[in-house]
Formats: sequence, C-alpha cells, structure tokens
Amino acid sequence: MSELRIDPEVCVGHGRCFDIAPDLFADDEEGFGTVTVPRPEGRQLADARLAARSCPEQAVLLVGDSSSTA
Ligand code: SF4
Repeated sequence: MSELRIDPEVCVGHGRCFDIAPDLFADDEEGFGTVTVPRPEGRQLADARLAARSCPEQAVLLVGDSSSTA
C-alpha cells in the first residue's frame, strides 16, 4: 500500500493538490497543502497520482507506489 505525503520543504502552496482532490488534501492555516487521507485506495489513489503529477513543485509524494510518476 502506498503512502501519500507532501514534502513541506518543497511545497510552496499553489493549492493545485487540494483543487484537484479536495477529499485527499486540505490547506493549512498558511495556505500550504496537507494530506487528509494518508493511505488512499481505489479512485482516491488515482486522484492522488493525478495530484502528484499536477503539483508544480513535485511536492506530492506517493511513497511505495509503483505506478507513480512522482
Ligand atoms: S500543489 Fe504542490 S506546491 Fe501546491 S499546495 Fe499542493 S503540494 Fe504544495
């Protein structure tokens, strides 16, 4: 099972992740992305992969996901 993370050192707060997958991500009080579902499955895993591909900073990580391009 893959683990969804955001690298806080890399995230700059574009918000694209929580625009794409608001059920997997949220923004913290400073506008940076946070993960709300750390172990997505099924459709949520597909959404997590899309968010990882869409983050301009490549800050969305799917650790252990063989299909991830992140
Ligand atoms: S899209 Fe990337 S840089 Fe933007 S808030 Fe999400 S993780 Fe951070």
